[in-house]
Parts: sequence; C-alpha cells; structure tokens
Amino acid sequence: MNLILLGKPGAGKGFIADILKNEYGFYHISTGALLRKNIAEGTQLGQVANGYMAQGELVPNDLVFDMLKDEIGKMKSKNCVFDGYPRSVLQAKSLAGIVNIDSVLFVDVPDDILIERVLSRKTCLACGNLSEIGQKDTVCKKCGGELVTRADDNLEVVTNRLNVYNESTAPLKEFYADKIVVLDNSGSVEQTKQKLNQIISDLLKKYGENI
Ligand code: ADP
Ligand code: ZN
Repeated sequence: MNLILLGKPGAGKGFIADILKNEYGFYHISTGALLRKNIAEGTQLGQVANGYMAQGELVPNDLVFDMLKDEIGKMKSKNCVFDGYPRSVLQAKSLAGIVNIDSVLFVDVPDDILIERVLSRKTCLACGNLSEIGQKDTVCKKCGGELVTRADDNLEVVTNRLNVYNESTAPLKEFYADKIVVLDNSGSVEQTKQKLNQIISDLLKKYGENI
C-alpha cells in the first residue's frame, strides 16, 4: 500500500510518517529530509536546493523527482509513505507515472496552531527527527544528536511556505479527491495516534495484504 501525506508546513507529516514507519513498517520517503541531507553533505543538489528552501520556495521538480526515483529504487518494504512529495499537480502527475497511490492522508491543523508549532520546533541534525521534541530539549531523544532550529522555520519563511502551499499544493486536495482521508492533528499526540490507528487499520483491510 502506498500512501501520501498531504498537509501544510508544520501540520505534522513527519510525526505521522514516523508512526507509520515504526509501528507499521512503512518505508518513509521525505523529500524535505532528503534535501536537507544533501545540503548537510554539500552535494551539488544540496547547494542548488538550499537557495530555494531558504526562501520557502519549491525546489524545481526535475531535481526533486530524480532524487525521489533514486530513493524509490532503495525501497524494501511493500508499503511506502510519501512525505513532502507531491507538492503540486505537476509532481502528482510525475509520481503517478512510477507508482500507484492507494490513499492520501490529509493532515489537518488550523493555521494559528501550525505557525506556533513550526516556530517552536527543533530538528535533529543527525537523524532529522522532529517529533515530540519540546523547545527546551537540546539533544534528540532518538539518537542523542544535536537539536537545531531548521533554517526555514522562521516567521518570514514559514509565511512564504504557507503561501506556496496555498498556491501550488492545495489544488492536490481536488486532484486526489477520491483518495483523501482527513486526519485531524490539532489535538494531543495520543488523540492523533488513536485516529491514525483506526484509519490505517481500515486502509490495510482494503489495500494492505502486504503487511
Ligand atoms: P514542511 O512541510 O514543514 O514545509 P519539508 O521538510 O517537507 O517541510 O520541506 C521543506 C522544504 O523543502 C520546502 O519548503 C521546499 O523548499 C523543499 N521541498 C521539500 N519537498 C519538495 C518537493 N516535493 N518539491 C519541491 N521542493 C520541496
Ligand atoms: Zn536524532
């Protein structure tokens, strides 16, 4: 079963993907995390991507799609969760050419909560983990790596990321209208986990004989 996580910046796509990976064995592909890895390693892709990401703009699709295809080639699990791709109808069409998408989880959070969450979150430099990390933590609970504020998690860039979302990514809700399942992520971690478990067990019954 292949799932896409759709949602505004800070909606919690990474957090949901983590649960799908750890509790259901999904292969997690996060284009944002892959791009940040390229930046950290100073690759040519990373150098180009950095200019776009620092402004909150989308990295050109040909670059992201090549990177995504490489990552899909490494996939071991039969169940995959795409996090951060597609971000436009063009990207959705590219993806449709190489994999079948069973369902699209729309991670829903009101804008005021989103911005607050993005501005207060930290990311692990070593493993990219950003779930369940409070502002006061200094090391990653998962791997002990250093926690930092992501370069694009400031008010100016987040505001642009939300604009880019509204312009380029929001039309995907219509594109995937027959596949969308809404997951409300405005409550507590436990509430979200419960809702997610219900959704995933329903989807697995329908599509997921692979697990
Ligand atoms: P968030 O969803 O919180 O904004 P991500 O880690 O998914 O964070 O993405 C961070 C940035 O990486 C985006 O603002 C964009 O610049 C770039 N990026 C990630 N995925 C894509 C993609 N599919 N296409 C183009 N750019 C992307
Ligand atoms: Zn870590």
